[in-house]
Amino acid sequence: MSDCLFCKIINREIPASIVYEDDRVLAFDDINPQGPAHVLIVPKRHVATLNDLAQDDDAMVGELVRRAAAIAKDRGISAGGFRSVFNTNRDAGQTVFHIHLHLIGGRSLAWPPG
Ligand code: 5GP
Ligand code: ZN
Repeated sequence: MSDCLFCKIINREIPASIVYEDDRVLAFDDINPQGPAHVLIVPKRHVATLNDLAQDDDAMVGELVRRAAAIAKDRGISAGGFRSVFNTNRDAGQTVFHIHLHLIGGRSLAWPPG
């Protein structure tokens, strides 16, 4: 998707602080971090929202979640805990329409969220 911000990060048209990369997944630091750790884990293939996932995407979603856990371990926040969130559409405040798993941690997080 030529007009997608995260596709542009994936294609290196926009810079980002890259945390992890493989053939299918990219992870980078959020530009407006909500905690000491705030990483976005995205599939390299453009999918706009969770509503657009198909059964064939199950393995990819699993990779995003397991990568979030691995990055949390690298950052030393696994045991203390972290939050992992997909926002979908208006009511959840989704602003970038390329699915991304937020990994937020390094501080105590309130629940329920706002
Ligand atoms: P959403 O609200 O869609 O769930 O989350 C989008 C996230 O992307 C926000 O946390 C926002 O700070 C982050 N973001 C927006 N633009 C950029 C950017 O250009 N670079 C990076 N690294 N993060 C961005
Ligand atoms: Zn995209």
